[in-house]
Amino acid sequence: MTFLSKIVASVCVAAYCLAVAAPSLSPTDRTAQFLESARNNPAALMDFLARMPKGGDLHHHLTGAVYAESYIDYAVADGLCLDRVVATLAPPPCDPAQGKVPAAQALTDFPLRNHVIDAWSIRNFVPAPDDRDVRHHFFATFGKFDPVTNKHWGEMLAEVVHRAGAQHEIYLETMLTPDQGEATKLGRTLGWNEDFAAMRSRLLAGGMAQVVADGRKNLDAGENVMREILGCAKAEPDIGCSVTLRFQNQVLRAYPKEEVFAQMLAGFELASADPRVVAVNLVQSQDEYRALLDFHLHMRMLDYLHGMYPGVHISLHAGELTPGEVKPEELLASHIRESIEVGHAERIGHGLDVLYEADVPGLLAEMAQRHILVEDCLYSHEVVRGMTGSENVLPVYLRAGVPVALATDDEGIVRSELTWYFKRAVEGYRADYPTLKRMVRDSLDHAFVPGASLWVAPENFTMVPACSNQRLETEPQSAACRNFLAGSERARLEWKEETRFSRFEAQF
Ligand SMILES: [Zn+2]
Repeated sequence: MTFLSKIVASVCVAAYCLAVAAPSLSPTDRTAQFLESARNNPAALMDFLARMPKGGDLHHHLTGAVYAESYIDYAVADGLCLDRVVATLAPPPCDPAQGKVPAAQALTDFPLRNHVIDAWSIRNFVPAPDDRDVRHHFFATFGKFDPVTNKHWGEMLAEVVHRAGAQHEIYLETMLTPDQGEATKLGRTLGWNEDFAAMRSRLLAGGMAQVVADGRKNLDAGENVMREILGCAKAEPDIGCSVTLRFQNQVLRAYPKEEVFAQMLAGFELASADPRVVAVNLVQSQDEYRALLDFHLHMRMLDYLHGMYPGVHISLHAGELTPGEVKPEELLASHIRESIEVGHAERIGHGLDVLYEADVPGLLAEMAQRHILVEDCLYSHEVVRGMTGSENVLPVYLRAGVPVALATDDEGIVRSELTWYFKRAVEGYRADYPTLKRMVRDSLDHAFVPGASLWVAPENFTMVPACSNQRLETEPQSAACRNFLAGSERARLEWKEETRFSRFEAQF
C-alpha cells in the first residue's frame, strides 16, 4: 500500500467513483471533498446536487412557478380560445377566421404549441422589434395566462409541491392573492384616506371580514384539490405530500394607493386568522410608475400595519432595480435599507442593487447583525436580468455574513427548478459544500414558521443543548430533545433536515 492510498479512497455514488480523502474525516468533510472532485465531472455534479437536501424555497410565485404546458391544459379544460399571434386567452366563442382558435388546438398543432410555450415563458427568447427585452417579456407572460390561474389552484399547487418534494425540499412558501382580487375591489370602492387608522376602520367596517373569509375558502378549496390529486390520504402518497406548504399574501404594489393599502390590510388580517398564511409581500416590477412613486408611502403603510399586527411576518422584494433601469436618484434611494428599517422586512427578495445603496458596508453589517435573510434567485437573475459573474451579488452577501437562501422566484416562466440554482452557485460562484449546506439550513431557520430554532447560535449552527449529541434519527433518543421538538414547528423542520443531511452525507 502506498502512502497515497492511505489517505485517498475511492467513493462510488450511483455510477460515479471519485477520489476523496480517507474515511477518518467527518461525513460532512468527506461530502465536501466529493463535491470538489465532482466539480469537473458534470454527470457526477448533477447527480450530487439533484439528491442533496435543499431545505425550503422561500421566494416562489405560484403563477410564475407553473409551466406553460399546464396552463395550456387548463385553457383546454376551460374551453377557452387562443389568439394565434399574441397567445392571449379569451372566452368562447372562438373565431378561427380572426385567428382566435380553440385552445385545444395547442395540443396537436406543434408549431402553435411551441409558439404558446415560448410566449408564456422565456424559452427561446429572441429580441424582436415589438418584444425587445427578456425582462419585459417575462413580466408580460403573467397577463397572457392569467385567465386560467384562479380556477386551477389545486392543480397548480399539486404541480409545485410535487416538484419541490422531488428535489428534496421539505418546505415551500408560495406567494398568491388568497382573496383573488376582492381586497383590491374593496379598496377601490371605499377610496383613499391619508389617515391609516381611519382607512383601516373603514375597510374593516366595509367588508374586509368577507374578503378574509373568502380568501380562506379559496385556500381550503385549492389545498383540498391538491391533496386529492397527490393522493395524500392514500397508502402511497405523492412525494409532494411531505412538503410543508405555507402561503404569503402578495400585494400588487403598482396599483393605486387605496388598493395597495386594502390588499395589505387583507394580508395582515388573513395571516392573523389563518396559520397557513404566514406573511405579506409586495410584488410586481419595482420600476413600475406607482411602485417607485409610492415606495415611501408603502413602507409607512407597512410600518403602521406592523404596529397593529406585530405577529405577522413581512418579506419584501427589495433591490430589484439595476443601474440604468431607473434614474440614479431612484436607485440610490436605499430601497433595501428602508424595506428593512421602515417596512420591517425580515427577509428581502433579490437584493440586487445593494452595491448602489448608501453606506453599503453599514447596510451589510446591519443585515448580518439582524439576521435579515436574502432570498437569492440566482438562476432567474442570470437569465432574466443578464446578471452573471461579478454583477451577481451572492458572494457579496455571503462574505458579509448575511444569511442567504437560494430560491426559484418563477421556475415555470424561467423554465428551471431549484437544483439548477444550486448548480449555478457551484459552477458560477465556486460555492463549496459548507456554503450550500449553510444556505439550506438558513432557508429553514428563516422560514416563517412558529417556534424556537434548533440552533442556539445560527451563525455557526450550534444545536440547542437538549438535542446536541443526539443521533440524527427521525425520533431523537432523549426525552428532552423530543419535548423541545414537540414545542417548535421550526425546530421539527430543522431536525428533519438534519436527519436527511446525515443520510445524504453517509453515502460519501
Ligand atoms: Zn419575486
